[in-house]
Amino acid sequence: MSLDNFKDRNAGVQNYRLLELEPTPTTGWGKFKQVLIRSVKLELLVGLKVTIREMFKALFGGQMHTTKYPFEKLPISPRYRAIHEMKRLLESGHYRCIGCGLCEKICIANCIRIDTRYDENQRKEVSDYTINLGRCIFCGYCAEVCPELAIVHSGRYETASEQRASFTDFADMLTPLDELKKQKEFPGFGAVSPNADENIKKTPLAY
Ligand code: SF4
Ligand code: SF4
Repeated sequence: MSLDNFKDRNAGVQNYRLLELEPTPTTGWGKFKQVLIRSVKLELLVGLKVTIREMFKALFGGQMHTTKYPFEKLPISPRYRAIHEMKRLLESGHYRCIGCGLCEKICIANCIRIDTRYDENQRKEVSDYTINLGRCIFCGYCAEVCPELAIVHSGRYETASEQRASFTDFADMLTPLDELKKQKEFPGFGAVSPNADENIKKTPLAY
């Protein structure tokens, strides 16, 4: 069925096919006759015939309507808000997060915990960063507020866990160093809009 059929809410123009229902037998003999007729005519196998027909269509006719999850996954929108990812700077490989704490402050589920310290060069570094995925409502505020485009939402949506509180920490979310070349700028939630430069130029100086 195409999308247009779903959108068509005018039931009057659709060709409904009414079932020809026989009257329900009320006497014992009538019921026995109905069972006999249904068994002899093998009506029980009619449903099975439909199943087998659809199975052959799917297997050999290229009309498969299901996906073999988790081996196959349906494409999701780039704006989908799933488990967070932490991005690195492409030039140096250092993580982009500057430990400003804005994401922790804006988080309405209060599920981000961030801790920072000074490194040996007296520069601020992130010493601890966790997100409790059991509390996160995937609102996307953290990705939106991040000034460094450090935290974004990925397309990884399997958050099932044996624990009610399931944490993801900084290292789990960070792009692995050996995959840095494959790191792509995120087009979805929290990303820069395609016309960001234009918008910045339009911003009045007084603002
Ligand atoms: S992820 Fe972004 S908003 Fe959160 S502390 Fe790091 S730089 Fe700041
Ligand atoms: S998506 Fe929303 S609830 Fe989840 S960590 Fe970010 S701000 Fe908090």
